[in-house]
Amino acid sequence: MRRIYNFSAGPAILPVSVLEEASKAVLELNGSGMSLLEVSHRGKDYDAIHAETMSRLLKTLGLSSEEYAVAFFGGGASLQFAILAMNYLAAGETADYIESGEWGVKAVQEARRVGNVNIAATSVDTKYDRIPKTLALSAPGVAKYVHITTNNTIEGTQYFDLPETNGAPLVADMSSDIFALARDYSRFDLIYAGAQKNAGPAGVTIAIIKRSFLEKAHKNVSPMLSYAVQVQKDSLYNTPPVFPIFVVNEVLKWIEEQGGVSAMEQRNREKAALIYDALDAFPNFYTPAAGDPADRSLMNITWRLADESLGKEFLAEAKAKEMDGLPGHRNVGGFRASIYNAFPREGCQALADLLRDFAQRKG
Ligand code: PMP
Repeated sequence: MRRIYNFSAGPAILPVSVLEEASKAVLELNGSGMSLLEVSHRGKDYDAIHAETMSRLLKTLGLSSEEYAVAFFGGGASLQFAILAMNYLAAGETADYIESGEWGVKAVQEARRVGNVNIAATSVDTKYDRIPKTLALSAPGVAKYVHITTNNTIEGTQYFDLPETNGAPLVADMSSDIFALARDYSRFDLIYAGAQKNAGPAGVTIAIIKRSFLEKAHKNVSPMLSYAVQVQKDSLYNTPPVFPIFVVNEVLKWIEEQGGVSAMEQRNREKAALIYDALDAFPNFYTPAAGDPADRSLMNITWRLADESLGKEFLAEAKAKEMDGLPGHRNVGGFRASIYNAFPREGCQALADLLRDFAQRKG
């Protein structure tokens, strides 16, 4: 099997052992004579996978099932932008949003369809090049929740210290850094994440909800969009995305084998440092996109070339060295190296070597 260094932002690289287990299960699940893609979602083989994935999710994040519940959705993180507001807001009610990137802006747009949004902080004035730190939160008791994006996939910034919320529940879009850091996950009342970056393939979105916050969800939401119904029905209200859930479980097993989220964080810090150090060694040649080095993402490293006319040449050289997926997001341009948990250290070293070599030759 040929493996290139795939720096794509998502869907993104998965561990080979996970791909192998998925391939086997697609051919035959547990000696059942059936493929994973053919078995009933209410049969015993799938049932075990479903329950195991839920409990492994909580265990990986250091959360207990007494305090937290898991729900699986379709529709991507983008659907969560809408249903979060449908479950927790109403006309005349307010939620606080910290806008640290383009995905956060989309979350705000959806919440505004349902209720009032107080932008507690934004870095729009500096093109979302940093995590905004000065907060204008609603008065205590006013905001139904405070929403953040823990990792800004497009801009390449990440939260390392979580914000205060004035007592309001903290909700996070963790699509691009769930399982990447040893955070205190019990600080969150609701976490959601599309699987296709750090957790598995596209097709399932993970929601992890504090039970005390679940009690506050509206009861009159369409069942498919309701956190309460999905939890009550164990995410088997209708047919769940069986294959992506199986792969998430395999990714979680892999994380466990590697030493859990603390080991992931340690590796992620080392991997990112290889690339940031190479960029910083040539400050007149490369400009990292994150304006405050303290906010630099460990997952999506973004930068520009001082001489943009060299961009095509850089990408061609990268391609010749088996590196792909490096152009920045279409809205911002520049370059982006996405190095989620499963991305190998050797690929980071290969990119760092190319960055240094290219700058020495062309700078
Ligand atoms: N939030 C973040 C932080 C993202 O990176 C993305 C996808 N790139 C989304 C939300 C949207 O996710 P989806 O495509 O699953 O709707």
